[in-house]
Amino acid sequence: MFKMIPASSKGSLIFLTIIFFITSFKTYSYDGPLFDAMAQIDETVNMKQAIKDVRNASISKIALFARSRKFLGENEKKLIKLQKKNKDLIILGAPKYFLHKKDISKKFTNHTLANVDKYNYAFIGEILFTHADKDHGRQHASGETYLDPSGEGHLNFLKSISRKKIPVMIHWEFYNWDRDFPKFSKIFSQFPEVTFIIPHMGFGSINQIDTILSSHPNVYMTISKSLKKNTSVSKEISLKIGEGMVENKVLKPDWKNLLVKYQNRFMFATDAHKKHRWKKYNKRVKHTRKQVLRFLPNDVAKKIAYKNAEKIYGIKLK
Ligand SMILES: [Zn+2]
Repeated sequence: MFKMIPASSKGSLIFLTIIFFITSFKTYSYDGPLFDAMAQIDETVNMKQAIKDVRNASISKIALFARSRKFLGENEKKLIKLQKKNKDLIILGAPKYFLHKKDISKKFTNHTLANVDKYNYAFIGEILFTHADKDHGRQHASGETYLDPSGEGHLNFLKSISRKKIPVMIHWEFYNWDRDFPKFSKIFSQFPEVTFIIPHMGFGSINQIDTILSSHPNVYMTISKSLKKNTSVSKEISLKIGEGMVENKVLKPDWKNLLVKYQNRFMFATDAHKKHRWKKYNKRVKHTRKQVLRFLPNDVAKKIAYKNAEKIYGIKLK
């Protein structure tokens, strides 16, 4: 093989560069099923239409939870009704609550635990730990929504939930790494029996994602990260969060390597949540197929598209 490389070093460099580009941008043709491992919905979205859009995008299953922005349990019953009419499609998670203060309250824990049993929730919808203010959302003097993960209420919540054997989604954006990583890392180690899902890869960099996944086998991530760089945050935050995975509609080679390296730990998801994101549901699915999954070897694409989600949620596609 090496005999084929031209003798001059300049020649070998050109040869290797060509090989690198051919292998990096090689396309495959994943055309199989998709399990949307994470999406959320509230009263601002036309739920019936949203479900129609999910079916039109040829999604086989969707892990969905309600957004409770005003009070505990808001939209919970609506979503249960919706699931009853779409049992073949919707996997339900416990609602995401927006009004946590400093720590997880007993009230939240009791409410959530009771309903995990009552409604047979397959997972706990995102708990909001760190969230940088976005152009189009709530604004805070501190520039963020923050909940300390090492709070006693959170530890008690995890102790109780660990008995239920269902995954917990945590919304943690990695922009304040030095403050947050040690705390989360400690919790992941403290609760090895709990499966944690970090949606949208924490908007993190390759190094951050690699650091977490290499040290914590009980952590999974969804790839609902912006394909392009997130531009809806302040400049300061923007410098601290990772770049997009895609450039010129092509999955970047270093991101491809990461997806291949941790092929058992990533899941496809849309993270549809607000009205404008639900409107683009179909487009988002198409973009992920064309700009991400297409660049992965078929067995890797399959795992990320639905097989890992089947395992995590304990639900097989038919
Ligand atoms: Zn999130």
